[in-house]
Amino acid sequence: MTEPIYLSSPDVGALEESYLISALRSGWVTPFGPDVDAFEQEVAARVGTTGAVAVSSGTAALHLALLGLGVGPGDVVLVPTLTFVATANAVSYTGARPVFVDCDPRTGNVDVGLVADLLQRLRARGERVGALIPVDLFGSCADYTALLPICAAADVPVVEDAAEALGATHLGRAAGSFGRVGALSFNGNKIMTTSGGGMLVGDDAALLARARHLAHQAREPMIQYEHRETGYNYRLSNLLAALGRAQLARLDEMIDRRRQLRDRYAKLFAPVPGVELIGAEDSGSNCWLTAIRVHPQRSGWHAADLAAHLAEWNIETRHVWKPMHQQPAYAGAESLLTGAADALCAEGLTLPSGSALTERQITFVLGMIDDFVTARTAASST
Ligand SMILES: *Cc1c(COP(=O)(O)O)cnc(C)c1O
Repeated sequence: MTEPIYLSSPDVGALEESYLISALRSGWVTPFGPDVDAFEQEVAARVGTTGAVAVSSGTAALHLALLGLGVGPGDVVLVPTLTFVATANAVSYTGARPVFVDCDPRTGNVDVGLVADLLQRLRARGERVGALIPVDLFGSCADYTALLPICAAADVPVVEDAAEALGATHLGRAAGSFGRVGALSFNGNKIMTTSGGGMLVGDDAALLARARHLAHQAREPMIQYEHRETGYNYRLSNLLAALGRAQLARLDEMIDRRRQLRDRYAKLFAPVPGVELIGAEDSGSNCWLTAIRVHPQRSGWHAADLAAHLAEWNIETRHVWKPMHQQPAYAGAESLLTGAADALCAEGLTLPSGSALTERQITFVLGMIDDFVTARTAASST
């Protein structure tokens, strides 16, 4: 059997090793230190915000972003139904209620028309809308050109879930910079990793200071440990920040590799009937994951058939996120749906997209897909 090929493995090597060893030898084996400070400055510079707060995960970043906005019990927060569960969980942690919104069928990002609709309905009902959390799905920015004016007019703050999108742009502006505050993730499978980590980015110094305070157990700056409210232990280790700095130095190179890979998938699937790349028109995507949608009526096969074929060769693929409105944990939550996310979940597939894939592995994956597609296309035309 061949060695497994994963969807998105960490891409770490000699540079990461040297940064980590330097941090270890410096003695800063702590959840604060010079690498944390430098990492925050470097990420803020990259995203184009004036501030950043390093934390232990993207989920923690989202949680603190909402707390920083004062979101809490009695509030509702608009969340795209097509996302990873962390987006919705962060809302639940605050005691607010997520309301799920369906997606644009082509991009998978939140449907702007539905957001406008829902804001009106909620307002008519007298609900307090604490925030909208657009998700930059698979590394493609949501349609901020349309979303931001709608949210501004309704006076609803935007928390950008850019966990998948570091390095992506929308009309030349960087992912993470669009909302009042943005959340990044450095989980092991993301575009760059600290093995686990996250960051809040933004220009609102007061909000970021509040988030930092809460991330440090809400400890008051006094000699005695004094805490006037319940905080969290959400800090990022200095060692992991050092790892993050090495990854950030290589971010563009890693994004380039993912883009090249997506282009090769695009070329392979171009002549195949019934297959489209999700979000293919977005030239600003960081191409974190390449995802396809298979229309079985036109292709003659299902996404699950390709997944099963690749699994036989130890090649990992995954279905597009199971929408939040289908999750037992969120049964009974309110949602505004068109069926677009259900269709993407049923007909979508994410393909191996990591920047650490070797040329041999990529050739193998493309070859296995080509074999499958050729056999199926021949079968359906006889
Ligand atoms: C990964 C991810 C998160 C959570 O990040 P963690 O660092 O794993 O906590 C949040 N939202 C989205 C859309 C993600 O993909």
